[in-house]
Amino acid sequence: MTFDDYLYTRLDIEKEEKEFLVLLEEFKGAKSFDIAYDLLSKINEKTNDWQTSFQLAHIRNSRNIYNEFYAKEKEFVNDVSPRVTSLKNKYYKALLASKFRKELEKEFGEHLFTLLEYSLKVFSDDVIDLLKEENRLSNEYTKLKTSAKILFDGKENNLSQMSFYLEHEDRSIRKKALIEWMKFFEENEEEFDEIYDKLVHVRDAMAKKLGYENFVQLGYDRMKRSDYTYKDVKVFREEVQRYLVPLATSLYQKQAERIGIEDFKYYDEPFKFKNGNPLPKGNKEWMVQKAEKMYYDLSDETGEFFSLMIEKDLLDLSARKGKVGGGYCTYLSKFKEPFIFSNFNGTSYNAKVLTHEAGHAFQKYLSRAYKVFEYLVPTYELAEVHSIGMEFLTRPFMEEFFEEDADKYRFSHLDRSIKFIPYGTCVDEFQHFVYENPDVTPKERKAEWRRLEEKYFPHRDYDGMDFLLRGGLWFKQMHIFLKPFYYIDYALAQLSAMQLWIQSKEDKKSTWNNYMKLCAIGGSKPFLEAIESANIKNPFKHGTVKEVVEHLTMYVDALDDRI
Ligand SMILES: [Zn+2]
Repeated sequence: MTFDDYLYTRLDIEKEEKEFLVLLEEFKGAKSFDIAYDLLSKINEKTNDWQTSFQLAHIRNSRNIYNEFYAKEKEFVNDVSPRVTSLKNKYYKALLASKFRKELEKEFGEHLFTLLEYSLKVFSDDVIDLLKEENRLSNEYTKLKTSAKILFDGKENNLSQMSFYLEHEDRSIRKKALIEWMKFFEENEEEFDEIYDKLVHVRDAMAKKLGYENFVQLGYDRMKRSDYTYKDVKVFREEVQRYLVPLATSLYQKQAERIGIEDFKYYDEPFKFKNGNPLPKGNKEWMVQKAEKMYYDLSDETGEFFSLMIEKDLLDLSARKGKVGGGYCTYLSKFKEPFIFSNFNGTSYNAKVLTHEAGHAFQKYLSRAYKVFEYLVPTYELAEVHSIGMEFLTRPFMEEFFEEDADKYRFSHLDRSIKFIPYGTCVDEFQHFVYENPDVTPKERKAEWRRLEEKYFPHRDYDGMDFLLRGGLWFKQMHIFLKPFYYIDYALAQLSAMQLWIQSKEDKKSTWNNYMKLCAIGGSKPFLEAIESANIKNPFKHGTVKEVVEHLTMYVDALDDRI
Protein backbone atom coordinates (compact mmCIF):
# COMPACT_ATOMS: atom_id res chain seq x y z
CA MET A 1 0.00 0.00 0.00
CA THR A 2 1.25 3.46 -0.87
CA PHE A 3 -0.08 6.87 0.13
CA ASP A 4 -2.60 6.98 -2.73
CA ASP A 5 -4.21 3.75 -1.49
CA TYR A 6 -4.99 5.17 1.93
CA LEU A 7 -8.72 5.35 2.05
CA TYR A 8 -10.28 8.61 3.11
CA THR A 9 -13.72 8.50 4.68
CA ARG A 10 -15.54 11.48 6.07
CA LEU A 11 -15.87 11.29 9.81
CA ASP A 12 -19.39 10.49 10.98
CA ILE A 13 -19.08 13.06 13.74
CA GLU A 14 -22.42 12.29 15.43
CA LYS A 15 -21.60 8.60 15.71
CA GLU A 16 -17.99 9.23 16.71
CA GLU A 17 -18.97 11.74 19.38
CA LYS A 18 -21.47 9.31 20.92
CA GLU A 19 -18.98 6.45 20.98
CA PHE A 20 -16.25 8.70 22.33
CA LEU A 21 -18.42 9.97 25.19
CA VAL A 22 -19.39 6.40 26.11
CA LEU A 23 -15.72 5.40 26.25
CA LEU A 24 -14.96 8.48 28.28
CA GLU A 25 -17.68 7.71 30.86
CA GLU A 26 -16.40 4.15 31.12
CA PHE A 27 -12.88 5.51 31.61
CA LYS A 28 -14.05 7.78 34.40
CA GLY A 29 -15.79 4.88 36.14
CA ALA A 30 -13.05 2.29 35.55
CA LYS A 31 -12.63 0.03 38.56
CA SER A 32 -9.01 -0.92 37.94
CA PHE A 33 -5.95 0.53 36.27
CA ASP A 34 -5.95 -2.25 33.66
CA ILE A 35 -9.47 -1.39 32.60
CA ALA A 36 -8.65 2.32 32.54
CA TYR A 37 -5.54 1.64 30.46
CA ASP A 38 -7.47 -0.46 28.01
CA LEU A 39 -10.09 2.26 27.57
CA LEU A 40 -7.41 4.86 27.14
CA SER A 41 -5.94 2.81 24.30
CA LYS A 42 -9.33 2.69 22.64
CA ILE A 43 -9.74 6.45 23.02
CA ASN A 44 -6.31 7.00 21.52
CA GLU A 45 -7.11 4.71 18.62
CA LYS A 46 -10.17 6.79 17.93
CA THR A 47 -8.38 10.13 18.06
CA ASN A 48 -5.65 8.69 15.83
CA ASP A 49 -8.29 7.76 13.26
CA TRP A 50 -9.72 11.28 13.40
CA GLN A 51 -6.29 12.86 13.08
CA THR A 52 -5.45 10.68 10.09
CA SER A 53 -8.73 11.38 8.36
CA PHE A 54 -8.19 15.13 8.85
CA GLN A 55 -4.61 14.97 7.60
CA LEU A 56 -5.57 12.97 4.50
CA ALA A 57 -8.10 15.66 3.61
CA HIS A 58 -5.57 18.40 4.32
CA ILE A 59 -2.72 16.79 2.33
CA ARG A 60 -4.86 15.87 -0.66
CA ASN A 61 -6.42 19.31 -0.74
CA SER A 62 -3.02 21.01 -0.65
CA ARG A 63 -1.75 18.70 -3.43
CA ASN A 64 -4.49 19.89 -5.74
CA ILE A 65 -6.76 22.75 -4.77
CA TYR A 66 -8.85 22.16 -7.93
CA ASN A 67 -10.00 18.77 -6.67
CA GLU A 68 -13.53 19.63 -5.59
CA PHE A 69 -14.01 16.57 -3.45
CA TYR A 70 -11.11 17.34 -1.12
CA ALA A 71 -11.88 21.06 -1.15
CA LYS A 72 -15.25 20.18 0.37
CA GLU A 73 -13.69 17.73 2.80
CA LYS A 74 -11.21 20.36 3.93
CA GLU A 75 -14.15 22.66 4.66
CA PHE A 76 -15.82 19.87 6.58
CA VAL A 77 -12.65 19.36 8.64
CA ASN A 78 -12.49 23.09 9.45
CA ASP A 79 -16.13 22.98 10.54
CA VAL A 80 -15.85 20.00 12.88
CA SER A 81 -12.43 20.86 14.32
CA PRO A 82 -13.76 22.98 17.22
CA ARG A 83 -16.08 20.11 18.17
CA VAL A 84 -13.16 17.71 18.18
CA THR A 85 -11.07 20.11 20.28
CA SER A 86 -13.85 20.35 22.82
CA LEU A 87 -14.13 16.51 22.97
CA LYS A 88 -10.39 16.22 23.44
CA ASN A 89 -10.49 18.78 26.23
CA LYS A 90 -13.10 16.64 28.01
CA TYR A 91 -10.76 13.70 27.70
CA TYR A 92 -7.83 15.77 29.02
CA LYS A 93 -9.89 16.81 32.04
CA ALA A 94 -10.78 13.18 32.74
CA LEU A 95 -7.13 12.15 32.50
CA LEU A 96 -6.04 14.88 34.90
CA ALA A 97 -8.76 13.93 37.39
CA SER A 98 -8.31 10.17 37.05
CA LYS A 99 -7.97 8.22 40.27
CA PHE A 100 -5.26 6.22 38.48
CA ARG A 101 -3.25 9.33 37.74
CA LYS A 102 -0.18 8.03 39.61
CA GLU A 103 -0.15 4.79 37.60
CA LEU A 104 -0.81 6.69 34.39
CA GLU A 105 2.07 9.04 35.12
CA LYS A 106 4.29 6.04 35.69
CA GLU A 107 3.20 4.57 32.37
CA PHE A 108 3.34 7.72 30.22
CA GLY A 109 5.60 10.06 32.14
CA GLU A 110 4.65 13.25 33.96
CA HIS A 111 5.15 15.50 30.96
CA LEU A 112 1.90 14.33 29.37
CA PHE A 113 -0.01 15.76 32.30
CA THR A 114 1.87 19.03 32.13
CA LEU A 115 0.94 19.30 28.45
CA LEU A 116 -2.71 18.59 29.21
CA GLU A 117 -2.74 21.23 31.92
CA TYR A 118 -1.41 23.79 29.45
CA SER A 119 -4.04 22.88 26.84
CA LEU A 120 -6.79 23.50 29.37
CA LYS A 121 -5.26 26.57 30.97
CA VAL A 122 -5.28 28.62 27.76
CA PHE A 123 -8.87 27.90 26.88
CA SER A 124 -12.32 28.54 28.29
CA ASP A 125 -15.75 28.95 26.75
CA ASP A 126 -15.57 32.65 27.68
CA VAL A 127 -12.87 33.30 25.09
CA ILE A 128 -14.39 31.43 22.13
CA ASP A 129 -15.63 34.65 20.52
CA LEU A 130 -12.25 36.30 20.97
CA LEU A 131 -10.53 33.26 19.43
CA LYS A 132 -12.86 33.53 16.46
CA GLU A 133 -12.04 37.21 16.14
CA GLU A 134 -8.33 36.43 16.33
CA ASN A 135 -8.80 33.94 13.50
CA ARG A 136 -10.74 36.42 11.40
CA LEU A 137 -8.10 39.12 11.80
CA SER A 138 -5.33 36.63 11.00
CA ASN A 139 -7.09 35.74 7.77
CA GLU A 140 -7.35 39.43 6.94
CA TYR A 141 -3.59 39.80 7.25
CA THR A 142 -2.99 36.79 4.97
CA LYS A 143 -5.50 38.10 2.45
CA LEU A 144 -3.97 41.55 2.43
CA LYS A 145 -0.48 40.17 1.91
CA THR A 146 -1.53 37.84 -0.88
CA SER A 147 -3.33 40.72 -2.60
CA ALA A 148 0.08 42.21 -3.50
CA LYS A 149 0.46 42.69 -7.24
CA ILE A 150 3.72 44.47 -7.82
CA LEU A 151 4.36 45.72 -11.34
CA PHE A 152 8.00 44.95 -12.09
CA ASP A 153 9.99 43.87 -15.10
CA GLY A 154 6.89 44.24 -17.26
CA LYS A 155 4.72 41.86 -15.27
CA GLU A 156 2.66 41.54 -12.12
CA ASN A 157 4.50 39.87 -9.24
CA ASN A 158 3.37 38.65 -5.84
CA LEU A 159 5.64 39.15 -2.83
CA SER A 160 7.50 35.85 -3.16
CA GLN A 161 8.02 36.35 -6.90
CA MET A 162 9.81 39.59 -6.02
CA SER A 163 12.63 37.64 -4.29
CA PHE A 164 14.11 36.96 -7.71
CA TYR A 165 14.66 40.71 -8.23
CA LEU A 166 15.53 41.45 -4.60
CA GLU A 167 18.48 39.02 -4.95
CA HIS A 168 19.42 40.13 -8.45
CA GLU A 169 23.09 40.53 -9.34
CA ASP A 170 22.43 44.00 -10.80
CA ARG A 171 22.49 46.42 -7.88
CA SER A 172 20.16 48.97 -9.46
CA ILE A 173 17.56 46.24 -10.03
CA ARG A 174 17.84 45.15 -6.39
CA LYS A 175 17.32 48.72 -5.23
CA LYS A 176 14.38 49.36 -7.54
CA ALA A 177 12.81 46.03 -6.54
CA LEU A 178 13.10 46.92 -2.86
CA ILE A 179 11.48 50.30 -3.46
CA GLU A 180 8.53 48.69 -5.27
CA TRP A 181 8.24 45.89 -2.71
CA MET A 182 8.23 48.44 0.09
CA LYS A 183 5.64 50.58 -1.68
CA PHE A 184 3.10 47.79 -1.32
CA PHE A 185 3.49 47.83 2.47
CA GLU A 186 3.59 51.60 2.64
CA GLU A 187 0.43 52.00 0.57
CA ASN A 188 -1.35 49.58 2.90
CA GLU A 189 0.32 50.85 6.06
CA GLU A 190 -2.86 51.96 7.76
CA GLU A 191 -4.55 48.64 7.16
CA PHE A 192 -1.57 46.59 8.39
CA ASP A 193 -1.39 48.79 11.49
CA GLU A 194 -5.09 48.46 12.11
CA ILE A 195 -5.17 44.67 11.78
CA TYR A 196 -2.23 44.34 14.15
CA ASP A 197 -3.60 46.81 16.65
CA LYS A 198 -6.87 44.87 16.78
CA LEU A 199 -5.03 41.56 17.12
CA VAL A 200 -3.01 42.90 20.04
CA HIS A 201 -6.14 44.10 21.83
CA VAL A 202 -8.07 40.89 21.18
CA ARG A 203 -5.17 38.89 22.63
CA ASP A 204 -4.83 41.22 25.57
CA ALA A 205 -8.55 40.93 26.32
CA MET A 206 -8.33 37.14 26.06
CA ALA A 207 -5.46 37.07 28.54
CA LYS A 208 -7.35 39.21 31.03
CA LYS A 209 -10.47 37.03 30.73
CA LEU A 210 -8.36 33.98 31.49
CA GLY A 211 -6.89 35.65 34.54
CA TYR A 212 -3.50 36.70 33.17
CA GLU A 213 -1.92 40.12 33.67
CA ASN A 214 -1.31 40.53 29.94
CA PHE A 215 -0.81 38.37 26.86
CA VAL A 216 2.88 37.57 27.48
CA GLN A 217 2.37 34.62 29.83
CA LEU A 218 -0.69 33.42 27.90
CA GLY A 219 1.43 33.49 24.74
CA TYR A 220 4.10 31.38 26.46
CA ASP A 221 1.47 28.99 27.82
CA ARG A 222 -0.15 28.59 24.40
CA MET A 223 3.27 27.44 23.19
CA LYS A 224 3.42 24.99 26.13
CA ARG A 225 6.75 26.36 27.33
CA SER A 226 6.90 24.52 30.61
CA ASP A 227 10.53 24.66 31.66
CA TYR A 228 11.64 28.22 30.97
CA THR A 229 10.20 31.71 31.35
CA TYR A 230 10.34 35.09 29.65
CA LYS A 231 13.19 35.97 32.03
CA ASP A 232 15.33 33.16 30.59
CA VAL A 233 14.53 34.29 27.07
CA LYS A 234 15.64 37.79 28.01
CA VAL A 235 19.01 36.47 29.14
CA PHE A 236 19.36 34.62 25.82
CA ARG A 237 18.61 37.78 23.85
CA GLU A 238 21.15 39.76 25.85
CA GLU A 239 23.83 37.16 25.25
CA VAL A 240 23.02 37.08 21.54
CA GLN A 241 23.36 40.84 21.37
CA ARG A 242 26.64 40.77 23.22
CA TYR A 243 28.39 37.82 21.61
CA LEU A 244 26.66 36.81 18.40
CA VAL A 245 25.77 40.17 16.87
CA PRO A 246 29.47 41.09 16.40
CA LEU A 247 30.04 37.81 14.53
CA ALA A 248 27.01 38.43 12.31
CA THR A 249 28.24 41.98 11.67
CA SER A 250 31.63 40.62 10.58
CA LEU A 251 29.83 38.27 8.17
CA TYR A 252 28.06 41.25 6.57
CA GLN A 253 31.46 42.95 6.24
CA LYS A 254 32.89 39.83 4.60
CA GLN A 255 29.91 39.77 2.27
CA ALA A 256 30.42 43.41 1.28
CA GLU A 257 34.06 42.70 0.42
CA ARG A 258 33.13 39.52 -1.43
CA ILE A 259 30.58 41.20 -3.66
CA GLY A 260 32.81 44.27 -4.03
CA ILE A 261 30.58 46.95 -2.51
CA GLU A 262 31.97 49.62 -0.24
CA ASP A 263 28.76 51.34 0.86
CA PHE A 264 26.83 48.16 1.76
CA LYS A 265 23.09 48.87 1.87
CA TYR A 266 20.04 46.87 2.95
CA TYR A 267 19.26 45.90 -0.66
CA ASP A 268 22.74 44.35 -0.95
CA GLU A 269 22.08 41.91 1.88
CA PRO A 270 20.24 39.26 -0.18
CA PHE A 271 23.04 39.15 -2.81
CA LYS A 272 25.57 36.68 -1.45
CA PHE A 273 27.96 35.64 -4.25
CA LYS A 274 29.10 37.48 -7.35
CA ASN A 275 29.09 34.29 -9.37
CA GLY A 276 25.66 33.19 -8.18
CA ASN A 277 24.29 31.05 -5.38
CA PRO A 278 25.19 27.34 -5.13
CA LEU A 279 22.59 25.24 -6.97
CA PRO A 280 21.92 21.50 -6.82
CA LYS A 281 23.22 19.72 -9.91
CA GLY A 282 20.22 17.65 -10.86
CA ASN A 283 16.45 17.34 -11.00
CA LYS A 284 14.06 15.99 -8.40
CA GLU A 285 14.47 12.28 -9.22
CA TRP A 286 18.23 12.66 -9.15
CA MET A 287 18.12 14.48 -5.80
CA VAL A 288 15.86 11.89 -4.18
CA GLN A 289 18.25 9.15 -5.31
CA LYS A 290 21.21 11.08 -3.90
CA ALA A 291 19.32 11.70 -0.66
CA GLU A 292 18.65 7.98 -0.29
CA LYS A 293 22.35 7.22 -0.72
CA MET A 294 23.21 9.99 1.76
CA TYR A 295 20.80 8.64 4.37
CA TYR A 296 22.20 5.11 4.04
CA ASP A 297 25.71 6.52 4.46
CA LEU A 298 24.59 8.43 7.53
CA SER A 299 23.05 5.52 9.47
CA ASP A 300 20.98 2.35 9.06
CA GLU A 301 18.02 4.05 10.72
CA THR A 302 17.99 7.05 8.39
CA GLY A 303 18.50 4.76 5.38
CA GLU A 304 15.52 2.59 6.27
CA PHE A 305 13.46 5.66 7.10
CA PHE A 306 14.13 7.32 3.75
CA SER A 307 13.51 4.12 1.77
CA LEU A 308 10.13 3.87 3.46
CA MET A 309 9.33 7.46 2.44
CA ILE A 310 10.13 6.60 -1.17
CA GLU A 311 8.49 3.19 -1.26
CA LYS A 312 5.24 4.38 0.26
CA ASP A 313 5.15 7.55 -1.80
CA LEU A 314 5.24 9.79 1.26
CA LEU A 315 7.14 12.55 -0.54
CA ASP A 316 5.36 15.04 -2.77
CA LEU A 317 8.18 17.34 -3.75
CA SER A 318 7.68 18.89 -7.18
CA ALA A 319 5.85 22.13 -7.85
CA ARG A 320 2.67 21.72 -9.91
CA LYS A 321 -0.25 23.80 -10.98
CA GLY A 322 -2.95 23.62 -8.33
CA LYS A 323 -0.53 22.82 -5.54
CA VAL A 324 -0.49 25.06 -2.46
CA GLY A 325 2.80 26.96 -1.99
CA GLY A 326 5.48 26.28 0.61
CA GLY A 327 6.37 23.05 2.34
CA TYR A 328 5.54 21.07 5.45
CA CYS A 329 5.97 17.75 7.18
CA THR A 330 3.00 16.09 8.78
CA TYR A 331 2.11 12.74 10.31
CA LEU A 332 -0.53 10.08 9.77
CA SER A 333 -0.91 8.59 13.22
CA LYS A 334 -3.07 5.66 12.16
CA PHE A 335 -0.34 4.40 9.82
CA LYS A 336 2.55 5.74 11.94
CA GLU A 337 4.02 7.44 8.89
CA PRO A 338 5.24 10.98 8.18
CA PHE A 339 4.49 12.85 4.97
CA ILE A 340 6.64 15.54 3.34
CA PHE A 341 5.16 18.19 1.07
CA SER A 342 7.13 20.83 -0.84
CA ASN A 343 7.48 22.80 -4.05
CA PHE A 344 10.94 22.18 -5.49
CA ASN A 345 12.27 25.23 -7.34
CA GLY A 346 15.74 24.20 -8.45
CA THR A 347 17.55 26.30 -5.82
CA SER A 348 19.28 25.20 -2.61
CA TYR A 349 15.77 25.13 -1.12
CA ASN A 350 15.48 21.61 -2.59
CA ALA A 351 18.40 20.46 -0.43
CA LYS A 352 16.83 22.15 2.56
CA VAL A 353 13.60 20.19 2.09
CA LEU A 354 15.54 16.94 1.89
CA THR A 355 17.39 17.70 5.12
CA HIS A 356 15.22 20.06 7.23
CA GLU A 357 11.78 18.56 6.52
CA ALA A 358 13.35 15.09 6.53
CA GLY A 359 14.65 15.88 10.04
CA HIS A 360 11.09 16.57 11.20
CA ALA A 361 9.92 13.38 9.50
CA PHE A 362 12.75 11.30 10.96
CA GLN A 363 11.81 12.45 14.47
CA LYS A 364 8.22 11.36 13.91
CA TYR A 365 9.44 8.06 12.50
CA LEU A 366 11.64 7.44 15.57
CA SER A 367 8.92 8.44 18.05
CA ARG A 368 6.25 6.36 16.33
CA ALA A 369 6.07 3.89 19.22
CA TYR A 370 4.44 6.42 21.57
CA LYS A 371 0.91 5.48 22.41
CA VAL A 372 -0.21 9.06 23.01
CA PHE A 373 -0.30 11.45 20.07
CA GLU A 374 0.75 14.35 22.32
CA TYR A 375 4.29 12.90 22.44
CA LEU A 376 4.65 12.81 18.68
CA VAL A 377 4.44 16.56 18.35
CA PRO A 378 7.23 18.29 20.27
CA THR A 379 7.01 21.94 21.29
CA TYR A 380 8.23 24.15 18.45
CA GLU A 381 11.74 25.00 19.68
CA LEU A 382 12.44 21.31 20.20
CA ALA A 383 10.93 20.29 16.86
CA GLU A 384 13.26 22.73 15.13
CA VAL A 385 16.30 21.18 16.80
CA HIS A 386 15.32 17.93 15.08
CA SER A 387 15.06 19.59 11.68
CA ILE A 388 17.91 22.11 11.88
CA GLY A 389 19.99 19.42 13.58
CA MET A 390 19.58 17.26 10.48
CA GLU A 391 20.61 20.21 8.28
CA PHE A 392 23.85 20.51 10.26
CA LEU A 393 24.62 16.80 10.58
CA THR A 394 24.21 16.21 6.84
CA ARG A 395 26.59 19.05 5.92
CA PRO A 396 29.49 16.63 5.24
CA PHE A 397 27.35 14.94 2.54
CA MET A 398 26.54 18.03 0.51
CA GLU A 399 28.85 16.90 -2.33
CA GLU A 400 25.97 14.57 -3.25
CA PHE A 401 23.76 17.48 -4.25
CA PHE A 402 26.18 20.32 -4.98
CA GLU A 403 29.31 18.49 -6.22
CA GLU A 404 32.12 21.04 -6.65
CA ASP A 405 29.91 23.76 -5.10
CA ALA A 406 29.51 21.89 -1.81
CA ASP A 407 31.86 24.21 0.09
CA LYS A 408 30.01 27.21 -1.20
CA TYR A 409 26.74 25.68 -0.01
CA ARG A 410 28.25 24.90 3.39
CA PHE A 411 29.48 28.46 3.73
CA SER A 412 26.15 29.97 2.76
CA HIS A 413 24.31 27.60 5.11
CA LEU A 414 26.45 28.65 8.06
CA ASP A 415 26.28 32.31 7.04
CA ARG A 416 22.48 32.18 6.88
CA SER A 417 22.17 30.29 10.17
CA ILE A 418 24.33 32.78 12.06
CA LYS A 419 22.70 35.86 10.53
CA PHE A 420 19.26 34.50 11.34
CA ILE A 421 19.72 34.50 15.11
CA PRO A 422 19.80 38.31 15.63
CA TYR A 423 16.68 38.58 13.49
CA GLY A 424 14.95 35.92 15.58
CA THR A 425 15.78 37.74 18.81
CA CYS A 426 14.74 41.11 17.35
CA VAL A 427 11.31 39.74 16.41
CA ASP A 428 11.00 38.28 19.90
CA GLU A 429 11.96 41.40 21.82
CA PHE A 430 9.57 43.42 19.68
CA GLN A 431 6.69 41.13 20.61
CA HIS A 432 7.48 41.40 24.31
CA PHE A 433 7.32 45.18 23.99
CA VAL A 434 4.05 44.98 22.07
CA TYR A 435 2.18 42.75 24.51
CA GLU A 436 3.60 44.42 27.62
CA ASN A 437 2.40 47.77 26.24
CA PRO A 438 -0.79 46.94 24.35
CA ASP A 439 -2.00 50.53 24.25
CA VAL A 440 0.89 52.24 22.50
CA THR A 441 0.14 53.74 19.09
CA PRO A 442 1.11 52.05 15.82
CA LYS A 443 3.64 54.82 15.32
CA GLU A 444 5.28 54.06 18.66
CA ARG A 445 5.35 50.35 17.82
CA LYS A 446 7.24 51.05 14.61
CA ALA A 447 9.65 53.35 16.42
CA GLU A 448 10.39 50.54 18.89
CA TRP A 449 11.03 48.11 16.02
CA ARG A 450 13.53 50.53 14.52
CA ARG A 451 15.23 50.97 17.90
CA LEU A 452 15.60 47.19 18.19
CA GLU A 453 16.95 46.93 14.65
CA GLU A 454 19.71 49.33 15.58
CA LYS A 455 20.58 47.05 18.47
CA TYR A 456 20.55 43.76 16.58
CA PHE A 457 21.70 45.00 13.13
CA PRO A 458 24.19 47.77 13.84
CA HIS A 459 25.54 47.49 10.29
CA ARG A 460 22.20 48.10 8.60
CA ASP A 461 21.86 51.00 6.18
CA TYR A 462 18.42 51.65 4.66
CA ASP A 463 19.80 54.21 2.23
CA GLY A 464 17.35 56.86 3.40
CA MET A 465 14.22 54.82 2.65
CA ASP A 466 11.63 56.52 4.82
CA PHE A 467 9.21 53.63 5.43
CA LEU A 468 11.99 51.33 6.64
CA LEU A 469 13.55 54.09 8.74
CA ARG A 470 10.20 54.59 10.47
CA GLY A 471 10.30 50.86 11.39
CA GLY A 472 7.95 49.15 8.94
CA LEU A 473 9.94 46.08 7.96
CA TRP A 474 8.14 43.72 10.34
CA PHE A 475 4.87 43.96 8.37
CA LYS A 476 6.32 41.20 6.18
CA GLN A 477 6.75 38.78 9.10
CA MET A 478 3.74 36.48 9.19
CA HIS A 479 4.56 35.09 12.66
CA ILE A 480 4.27 38.50 14.32
CA PHE A 481 0.64 38.71 13.19
CA LEU A 482 -0.44 35.07 13.20
CA LYS A 483 1.68 33.18 15.70
CA PRO A 484 2.59 35.44 18.61
CA PHE A 485 5.82 34.55 20.40
CA TYR A 486 6.52 31.74 17.94
CA TYR A 487 9.85 32.89 16.54
CA ILE A 488 12.52 32.79 19.21
CA ASP A 489 12.04 29.03 18.79
CA TYR A 490 14.06 29.13 15.57
CA ALA A 491 16.89 31.06 17.22
CA LEU A 492 16.98 28.68 20.20
CA ALA A 493 16.95 25.71 17.83
CA GLN A 494 19.72 27.16 15.66
CA LEU A 495 21.95 27.60 18.67
CA SER A 496 21.17 24.07 19.87
CA ALA A 497 21.67 22.48 16.44
CA MET A 498 24.97 24.34 16.09
CA GLN A 499 26.09 22.66 19.30
CA LEU A 500 25.34 19.25 17.78
CA TRP A 501 27.44 20.21 14.79
CA ILE A 502 30.33 21.35 17.02
CA GLN A 503 30.05 18.07 18.97
CA SER A 504 30.14 16.09 15.74
CA LYS A 505 33.47 17.64 14.78
CA GLU A 506 34.91 15.95 17.83
CA ASP A 507 33.01 12.70 17.89
CA LYS A 508 30.74 11.85 14.98
CA LYS A 509 29.41 8.62 16.34
CA SER A 510 28.39 9.75 19.81
CA THR A 511 26.86 12.94 18.37
CA TRP A 512 24.78 10.90 15.98
CA ASN A 513 23.59 8.71 18.84
CA ASN A 514 22.71 11.83 20.81
CA TYR A 515 20.73 13.16 17.88
CA MET A 516 18.82 9.90 17.49
CA LYS A 517 18.09 9.88 21.20
CA LEU A 518 16.69 13.38 20.87
CA CYS A 519 14.48 12.35 17.95
CA ALA A 520 13.20 9.30 19.80
CA ILE A 521 12.28 11.49 22.79
CA GLY A 522 10.00 13.39 20.41
CA GLY A 523 7.63 15.49 22.50
CA SER A 524 7.75 13.34 25.61
CA LYS A 525 10.01 15.78 27.46
CA PRO A 526 10.11 19.57 27.77
CA PHE A 527 12.72 21.48 25.75
CA LEU A 528 15.58 21.81 28.25
CA GLU A 529 15.31 18.29 29.58
CA ALA A 530 15.25 16.91 26.03
CA ILE A 531 18.28 18.79 24.74
CA GLU A 532 20.23 18.03 27.89
CA SER A 533 19.87 14.33 27.14
CA ALA A 534 21.68 15.01 23.85
CA ASN A 535 24.48 16.89 25.63
CA ILE A 536 23.27 20.22 24.28
CA LYS A 537 23.87 23.04 26.72
CA ASN A 538 21.04 25.19 28.02
CA PRO A 539 20.98 28.26 25.73
CA PHE A 540 19.59 30.40 28.57
CA LYS A 541 22.61 29.87 30.81
CA HIS A 542 25.21 32.61 30.88
CA GLY A 543 28.17 31.48 28.83
CA THR A 544 26.46 29.08 26.39
CA VAL A 545 26.02 31.58 23.56
CA LYS A 546 29.56 32.85 24.11
CA GLU A 547 31.03 29.36 23.90
CA VAL A 548 29.13 28.50 20.73
CA VAL A 549 30.14 31.80 19.14
CA GLU A 550 33.81 31.10 19.89
CA HIS A 551 33.58 27.83 17.96
CA LEU A 552 31.62 29.41 15.13
CA THR A 553 34.17 32.20 14.79
CA MET A 554 36.89 29.59 14.40
CA TYR A 555 35.00 27.83 11.60
CA VAL A 556 34.01 31.03 9.87
CA ASP A 557 37.62 32.21 9.88
CA ALA A 558 38.82 28.89 8.49
CA LEU A 559 36.27 28.81 5.65
CA ASP A 560 37.20 30.50 2.40
CA ASP A 561 34.15 32.52 1.42
CA ARG A 562 35.53 33.65 -1.94
CA ILE A 563 34.24 30.55 -3.64
ZN1 LIG B 1 10.92 23.24 10.59
